[in-house]
Amino acid sequence: MSTASVPAIQAQKLFIAGEWRDGAGGKTFNTINPATDEVIATIASAEKEDVDAAVAAARQAFDERGSAWNKMSAADRGRLLWKMADLIEKNIDEFARLETLDNGKPIFESRYVDMPMVVEVFQYYAGWATKILGETIPAKGNYFNYTLREPVGVVAAITPWNFPLLLASWKIAPALAAGNTVIHKPASLTPLTALKLASIAQEAGVPPGVFNVITGKGATVGDALVEHTGVDKIAFTGSTEVGREVMRKAAGTVKRVSLELGGKSPNIVFADADLDAAARGAYLGIFYGKGEVCAAGSRLFVEESVHDQLMEKLIARTKKLQPADPLDPKTRLGALVSEGQLNSVLRYIESGKNEGGHLVTGGERAQVNGKGSFLQPTIFDRVLPDMTIAREEIFGPVLATLSFKDVNDGLRQANETMYGLAAAVWTRDIKKAHRAARELKAGTVWINTYNVYDPSMPFGGYKQSGFGRELGMQALDLYTQTKSVWVDLNE
Ligand code: NAD
Repeated sequence: MSTASVPAIQAQKLFIAGEWRDGAGGKTFNTINPATDEVIATIASAEKEDVDAAVAAARQAFDERGSAWNKMSAADRGRLLWKMADLIEKNIDEFARLETLDNGKPIFESRYVDMPMVVEVFQYYAGWATKILGETIPAKGNYFNYTLREPVGVVAAITPWNFPLLLASWKIAPALAAGNTVIHKPASLTPLTALKLASIAQEAGVPPGVFNVITGKGATVGDALVEHTGVDKIAFTGSTEVGREVMRKAAGTVKRVSLELGGKSPNIVFADADLDAAARGAYLGIFYGKGEVCAAGSRLFVEESVHDQLMEKLIARTKKLQPADPLDPKTRLGALVSEGQLNSVLRYIESGKNEGGHLVTGGERAQVNGKGSFLQPTIFDRVLPDMTIAREEIFGPVLATLSFKDVNDGLRQANETMYGLAAAVWTRDIKKAHRAARELKAGTVWINTYNVYDPSMPFGGYKQSGFGRELGMQALDLYTQTKSVWVDLNE
């Protein structure tokens, strides 16, 4: 199917208390296909009143004694999540198509990577619903003490545009499994799959108010959720800049916060690595997902003695990659998410050139059928650590290559960043690999691979890449709180 033949999608509403509603102010915004610059759909733009309504619905579903959600057993909650997984899988082509239209990512990625993992995440946490346990604790004195592991309450999930449904599922599935109610605020650039998920929740029989979706501006809707007294927890993924603001504002009501923020992840190639594998890893590390990936391997460190060999392989591979129609199953590099994002990445390319980086391939805007926010895959070589493109998150298909002398120098340079989301090392030396894994200050370290994920593996940041771990059993800590219960057994 070509992009041009995609029919316009009808106006989309807010999903609050199990109903589809227009925004209180009647305002809307358009979501644009970045591959064609065409409007895909008109979306309701929520106001503060809509946030109040969503919070009231989520609160009621959570607090009301005897509500459908409160009466539901953990086993039934698990079944409901599994049903959502089944329905997502049944609609997987439609979900993938919406994601690609909205975000510009290749359909190959949305259909065969993102959406299958969304299904797995719902299945994984469906299994956890019945396994969230308290403890019995040997207290001193004649007392019986046990703990209850309870949900935190109303969770607001605020998500970015790069993996719209996937990153939402990392929050929504564990939050619901643990018995919370959820308000999801997707990024304004990519709201379509979140709205589709709301219709799936409705079809699966999720009780009204348990799962709500409100679309609109981050500064209005996001902010109102963060400051709301009726919200107990903010699960945020986005930029470090907005993350700081969220943390500051959440302090007003002492809300629980988890933050998954930006990155500038090092991909380190040692001289003893399998250089073909390392070149492929460097390529996928930065060009998968158009480099709009929080864990992108955007700083490539190459040991000096193999620099030329590695770069030759990497550049040859990159020259074969061309941006193309995201809906074409053969496409491996889609459109950047928006014109604004493209311009921001182009500004970084200019700064790389001005500050003395060697542009070895790419660097130019591209178009497909004369349209769209496409960019050639771009590699800078001979980048120095203090250049802007070595320090700041570019969030596009732009690689900064740096050199290092030996293991100590490589690991030291790799850690010289305010971020700490992920890192990778390429080596055949098992001791060097494990030493690097210990010394790298990052929440994920890949050895001889890149960008591998699994619902059971925790993911999250060190340093200013955030805190709290999503996925795995660790994510359940974000959505539960512990209550100690004392029973007097004295005669
Ligand atoms: P962003 O920070 O601009 O927006 C993220 C979300 O926050 C959006 O839904 C937005 O509407 C909302 N928002 C904006 N202002 C807000 C405010 N004042 N209060 C509350 N919410 C507000 O990020 P983005 O541009 O959508 O996404 C790109 C960023 O996300 C990159 O920095 C990337 O590294 C990061 N990211 C991190 C991870 C991770 O897991 N660590 C994953 C994906 C993306």
